[in-house]
Amino acid sequence: MVDLNHPGCTGCGVCALVCPSHCLELAIDPNGEYRPRITGRPCSSCGLCERKCIAVQVDEEWSDILDCCYGYANDPKLRFQSTSGGVFYAIAQMFIKRGGVVAGAAFNSDGELTHIIAGSECELQRIRGSKYLESNAAKVFPGVQACLEEQVEVLFSGVPCEISALKRFLGKKYDNLTCCEVFCHGAPRVGIFKKYLRYLEKKYGKMRKFEFRSKRRGWDCPSYEICLEKKTIFHAHEKDIYHLMFGYHDSLRQSCFQCARRSLKRGADISLGDFWGIEKYYPEEKVKAGISAVLINTEQGKRILNSSDITTVPCRAEEIFDINRWMISNFDKPKSYARFTNDYKRMTDSVFFTKWKFMYQIVYRIRNLIGRFLR
Ligand SMILES: Cc1cc2nc3c(=O)[nH]c(=O)nc-3n(C[C@H](O)[C@H](O)[C@H](O)COP(=O)(O)OP(=O)(O)OC[C@H]3O[C@@H](n4cnc5c(N)ncnc54)[C@H](O)[C@@H]3O)c2cc1C
Ligand code: SF4
Ligand code: SF4
Ligand code: SF4
Repeated sequence: MVDLNHPGCTGCGVCALVCPSHCLELAIDPNGEYRPRITGRPCSSCGLCERKCIAVQVDEEWSDILDCCYGYANDPKLRFQSTSGGVFYAIAQMFIKRGGVVAGAAFNSDGELTHIIAGSECELQRIRGSKYLESNAAKVFPGVQACLEEQVEVLFSGVPCEISALKRFLGKKYDNLTCCEVFCHGAPRVGIFKKYLRYLEKKYGKMRKFEFRSKRRGWDCPSYEICLEKKTIFHAHEKDIYHLMFGYHDSLRQSCFQCARRSLKRGADISLGDFWGIEKYYPEEKVKAGISAVLINTEQGKRILNSSDITTVPCRAEEIFDINRWMISNFDKPKSYARFTNDYKRMTDSVFFTKWKFMYQIVYRIRNLIGRFLR
């Protein structure tokens, strides 16, 4: 049986999906991250879960980056509503218009993030926008496989390890599958998000909308916009406690500190991110509405981009990775990680968020100031 405690486990859920004896299921572990757990049914030791695990064997086909550009969707409304430059939505729209489907991350009515398969523009809107937490992507893998077998064109979108997991699950190449990954700093643990949502909902009622990257102050000054029954919260990123936990890396899942997908070789046809730092290289660009950084990794990716309703400008990979350097190299786990996780497990929601807000906004700032003074 696969090592359920493997430090590189991305929580992809493929081991549970493929187990013929239903011995495994994906669950939220005590540390708050998705992991497989034993259901209690007898294991036949067939080894399939281990052979399909992307943490045990990192052997999928990866491509060198063919071309780089930055760009945005030509439709200004669509560009504004998306996280970066709206390139994902413009590509996805094209798939839907051609009779294909798009798989990506969307919230359900209980505030849970899972991948869904969208076959219409209406469903596609639920996929738009970055959600900073782990998605349960494996839920749609069998549905994606069924579409591919029926010769339907599929665009699958997710973080890089989800693309690897889908490919490992499928086990063969499909010409009608296009994979579009987002650049990935790391995924906050699902349990931390659930705790945050519970904390907010207790105060202000049920969540109606959770936007992690509102552009009301512009793409370059992102904010959280959270609509709850009794209140709408509008926080700049540096003021939102959930975002601080993400920014200081305490809320990330374990695997993000030893991610095999931080590399110059890519597993998806197209990679999309924010072009942070664009002003250094292209100061003439207007960025308030959002700018995407685009890596084109395969000929198929190039064809898809060329037929989408977007504007692109060629640029160099070094410019894109200048600030987004975690795309190609890992960073260390913060020293506070174990303490943070312990607090997550034992503290009530309000004590946990109040304590860590104080830590980031006061203690860390004072420590930085003293450090600078002593240097
Ligand atoms: C967890 C996470 C970390 C990221 N880190 C960085 C970073 O460090 N640097 C950077 O430049 N960009 C990062 N991005 C990507 C960036 O935020 C935008 O998603 C990307 O630029 C695409 O923007 P867009 O305007 O083209 O489309 P959007 O409409 O924003 O597209 C969103 C796409 O992202 C997918 N998606 C959203 N949330 C999740 C999720 N939780 N899990 C899997 N897929 C998801 C959706 O399926 C959809 O396809 C991150 C995204 C996520 C989800
Ligand atoms: S070894 Fe086979 S039966 Fe046992 S958990 Fe893995 S897939 Fe299931
Ligand atoms: S990486 Fe995926 S397949 Fe491997 S143990 Fe974790 S959930 Fe299972
Ligand atoms: S950093 Fe790596 S392991 Fe973590 S969510 Fe992103 S792709 Fe997956």
